[in-house]
Amino acid sequence: MVREMTSEQAIDLEDKYGAHNYHPLPVVLSKGEGVYVWDVEGERYFDFLSAYSAVNQGHCHPKIVGALTEQAQKLTLTSRAFYNDALGEYEKYITEYFGFDKVLPMNTGAEAVETAIKLTRKWAYEVKGIPENEAKIIVCENNFHGRTTTIISFSNDPDAQKNFGPYTAGFVKIPYNDIDALKEALKDKNVAGLLMEPIQGEAGVYVPQEGFLKAASAACKAAGVLFVADEVQTGIARTGKLLACDHEGVKPDVLILGKAISGGVYPVSVVLANDDIMHVIKPGQHGSTFGGNPLAAKVAMAALDVIKDEKLAENAERLGVIFRERINQFIATTEVVSLVRGKGLLNAIVINDSEDSSTAWDICVALKENGLLAKPTHGNIIRFAPPLVMTEEQLHECCDIIIDTIKAFKK
Ligand SMILES: *Cc1c(COP(=O)(O)O)cnc(C)c1O
Repeated sequence: MVREMTSEQAIDLEDKYGAHNYHPLPVVLSKGEGVYVWDVEGERYFDFLSAYSAVNQGHCHPKIVGALTEQAQKLTLTSRAFYNDALGEYEKYITEYFGFDKVLPMNTGAEAVETAIKLTRKWAYEVKGIPENEAKIIVCENNFHGRTTTIISFSNDPDAQKNFGPYTAGFVKIPYNDIDALKEALKDKNVAGLLMEPIQGEAGVYVPQEGFLKAASAACKAAGVLFVADEVQTGIARTGKLLACDHEGVKPDVLILGKAISGGVYPVSVVLANDDIMHVIKPGQHGSTFGGNPLAAKVAMAALDVIKDEKLAENAERLGVIFRERINQFIATTEVVSLVRGKGLLNAIVINDSEDSSTAWDICVALKENGLLAKPTHGNIIRFAPPLVMTEEQLHECCDIIIDTIKAFKK
């Protein structure tokens, strides 16, 4: 049975039967390949969101989809009650790939963040010797680490937090990119870890001052506190290096990855750490039915192969420079955009209008009409994060679309 559906019908169905926890742009996608997606009417678009940086390797990468379909016909899920013949190979592969002793596999980004929080606390009690139930984790203002009740407990986005209480205790919030505030907070002997994004993606692509990550990591080390990096969005070549922490030569004690670890093909996330930290987790103390399943293992290995084989970090670095150069040239001529910021192919422009104005949304709707999909993030900010398999020629075409579209908006 072939059911042809119009965009309008698909939108009506979601509206009627789905919870309204998102506010999508009015476009209904049915196909993707590389940097492109197509809607149900057959219109083609450049994807400048890449599913929040999950599709770094491009849509439906044949190598990743091949790994998925091959494994899907052999074995999909055993649970961790038994061994399977893909997990060990994957664990060896990914720990060597990122340079850690051990991995703890989960599925979604939020689950991996939860895992890192539990690991940090347990380490604090059993290794550092913090009195039971007293451990604190430092987090940053305007963070985004996912949607669980514990994670939203330390969000300061009212939409994410309000009426979901009571909240989980044990988190101390400091301003982002503020080394003095961090050093002050680290004076508390009950601090177990610092959990932060090396670049704040959801908040609007806030890049900390150069040297901040290095200083933060050193301050944590001096205080005997774990530096926990949430690279769910910034990791896997997005910012022009394998990890955003690599820009400053910083190695986190605990590394959280998700999204592009599967190239957007399947939910896969991990927490990586060395033995001196990971050894605190014993059988029965943490887990997930789907975590570490053979399908995930094969998909993730293929997706990480693609990153290296196709030199996607190098491509992101090179194209990011061109992107910001072109947008900066345009900014010099317009009142509508006040700045562009980012690293590699994780960038955002700030619209020169009040935070609650609809200009960013209106620009995204106009971009869609012109064949490019992007989404506003907090305030009047538009994030631009295309798949990393983009060519220079395609990037120039996209810059033309963005610039021509915004030119039509008057300040
Ligand atoms: C997307 C994201 C998460 C949450 O990942 P989910 O897979 O949506 O649970 C956590 N941290 C950061 C930095 C993210 O960008």
